[in-house]
Amino acid sequence: MADLARDHSFDELRVTHAQNIVLPHVKKADLYRLWQTLDEAGLAAANLDLIGDIIACPGLDYCALANARSIPLAQKISNRFADLGRQRDLGELKLKISGCINACGHHHAGHIGILGVDRKGVENYQLSLGGCEGADTSLGQITGPGFSEDGVVDAVEKATDVYLAQRIEGERFVDTYRRIGMAPFKEAIYAKEAAHG
Ligand code: SF4
Repeated sequence: MADLARDHSFDELRVTHAQNIVLPHVKKADLYRLWQTLDEAGLAAANLDLIGDIIACPGLDYCALANARSIPLAQKISNRFADLGRQRDLGELKLKISGCINACGHHHAGHIGILGVDRKGVENYQLSLGGCEGADTSLGQITGPGFSEDGVVDAVEKATDVYLAQRIEGERFVDTYRRIGMAPFKEAIYAKEAAHG
């Protein structure tokens, strides 16, 4: 990245709050070559604001205050939604993960938010839906009981399935959530647990 900043951006890189890196001042004529270099380095996934463009705090791997790990969970969710076509079909979907209530990952402002909690010494994750930053700000609402690391990945997928089934033309995930409310999401997310009593 430093080499690319030197060659294309007057030695400047900007890191955004969404944990993306901006190379400013790039000549239009150099864009394709720059993209090819990024692609070779595995840094060119065009997933801005999609479900794969996750914000995750350092979590238990690096932060002494954490209750749970954030980065491995972000990787699992990225893998689950690795197909870029699938991500594009889901459209704008901001997923944010914090490893504790200090909320460095802004989970409460994620369309889908995940908060790491400590349940009797075991890492556990609370899921929230409907948070939003920007002009139409809202705070996410917790779906219900928390999940294991794998459980919360499944729960995220179930929430996206509800969106795909219920959305109307032009609606983002958060718009559908606002129109239909928490109940259908909750029903889908906890269906298995309910069936098992
Ligand atoms: S949210 Fe908690 S775990 Fe994550 S970086 Fe902040 S203090 Fe650490």
